Amino acid sequence: MEHHELLILGAGPAGLTAAVYAKRSGLDVVVLEKGAIGGQITTTNDVENWPGIKQISGFDLAASLQEHAEYLGAEIRVTEIESLDFSGPEKIVRTDKGDLSADALIVATGARHRHLGVPGEAELTGRGVSYCAVCDGPFFRNEDIMVVGGGDTAVEEAEYLTRFASKVYLVHRRDRLRAADMLAKRALANPKIEPVWDTVVTAINGKTGAESVSVKNVKNGGEKQIPATGVFIFVGNLPNSEVFKGSGLDMDATGWVIADHATLRTNIPGVFAAGDVRVTGLRQMITAAADGARATMSAYAFLSELEKAN
Ligand code: NAP
Repeated sequence: MEHHELLILGAGPAGLTAAVYAKRSGLDVVVLEKGAIGGQITTTNDVENWPGIKQISGFDLAASLQEHAEYLGAEIRVTEIESLDFSGPEKIVRTDKGDLSADALIVATGARHRHLGVPGEAELTGRGVSYCAVCDGPFFRNEDIMVVGGGDTAVEEAEYLTRFASKVYLVHRRDRLRAADMLAKRALANPKIEPVWDTVVTAINGKTGAESVSVKNVKNGGEKQIPATGVFIFVGNLPNSEVFKGSGLDMDATGWVIADHATLRTNIPGVFAAGDVRVTGLRQMITAAADGARATMSAYAFLSELEKAN
């Protein structure tokens, strides 16, 4: 079976940074990615929070991360993981293009935003529809926008967005926010936030950008359109960790991978977790990249110990 010192699963900012650190440490590494190289950032229009670069498209930043890893000699293979075996000292990864094994492995498969699945959502993503207030909020100065969701994220981000927008409609499917009481009270006291209770989004409308949102009251069935040029959807995230179910890797009830915060070690010796897929307090590109560096250095220490023992 094809064997490597280190396998990195996922080629987002965490996985690609891990690859950069691995090559600079002289490790034999292969990165496996099933979708877009660069991960979630490839769908972000403008990135304005990557230190040192005032503005860059998510696509260009992803390309530069890939180029950097490949320049150092990292191989990035586009392939779908079918199953894993973490039961022995060698971690085995079965893919649609063959099986691989490794002495150490970094899980960096990321997360995805839960989507509403309504007409217009996919078409207008990056053109009014956003899943990241920090990334896209500044584009909506003095405009009327909408936040969808009632959890901590929706409420916190709605408040953050009032720095830019003239008005933020907070659309929630119930008449009570899920968010923590203190956050909820503060948001509802903000004069720029207008809650729209018991309401679901049925469509996002617009030609070149979002213009309005069709909504429906779930109690009385009433339908209307709310004008909004920005539609921020915060209805939860989902970890890309389905493939690890049954592998013995510790995950919480939703599937977020549990790793030690300092070393990023998981419960399985030689398996580390980095970036959005793990249980963490902040899911940003910069924190994912930092995780990638730390996970590789922990993997490096693990591999050095292994070498000494053999
Ligand atoms: P969340 O707690 O899962 O909340 C998701 C919200 O979206 C809920 O209000 C839910 O409605 C709504 N929702 C789900 N699916 C929907 C759909 N299809 N259509 C419309 N609405 C839908 O997600 P989150 O707010 O991203 O928070 C995730 C975790 O991070 C939570 O544990 C949260 O406490 C934590 N967090 C903490 C902080 C903080 O402490 N400062 C900040 C952010 C996040 P229902 O309420 O009706 O289910």
